[in-house]
Amino acid sequence: MNIFFDVDYTILGLDNSLRPDTREVFQRLVDEGHLVYIWSGQGERWEVVRKFELEPFVSGVYEKPLSDFFNRLEGLGVPVVPDFIIDDYPEITAAFGGMWIRPYFFRNDHDQEMEHVHRVITEFADTGTSDDRQYRAKGTKVPLF
Ligand SMILES: [Mg+2]
Repeated sequence: MNIFFDVDYTILGLDNSLRPDTREVFQRLVDEGHLVYIWSGQGERWEVVRKFELEPFVSGVYEKPLSDFFNRLEGLGVPVVPDFIIDDYPEITAAFGGMWIRPYFFRNDHDQEMEHVHRVITEFADTGTSDDRQYRAKGTKVPLF
């Protein structure tokens, strides 16, 4: 699958720390045959990818559309349609299908959301859906939090 990760508060904290297990989960997803992409509403975040040495796992770095999600992909140079996205912003998660992730703000060695993400992706890849409360099927209504 084409799996897209948001940057701010998804893999990167306000304090510029990388979320625990990010690199390990990226490695595992690639090993399992998925393609991992990074995108951000703040533009192409190559500096984050390079700083944390994520290049070996990442197939592309793009600017994320903030509205009119599907129609804007081509204009932003996104060459594939995301199959599964991970974002702390629920609206885009519900549009493409994927998982809302609890926002990550400050370094927290006990944070286990990336492992949680991997479990949900695995379940989705195997069955086409997930029972997880943070999973959003493609095209579902925006959840209220
Ligand atoms: Mg975010």
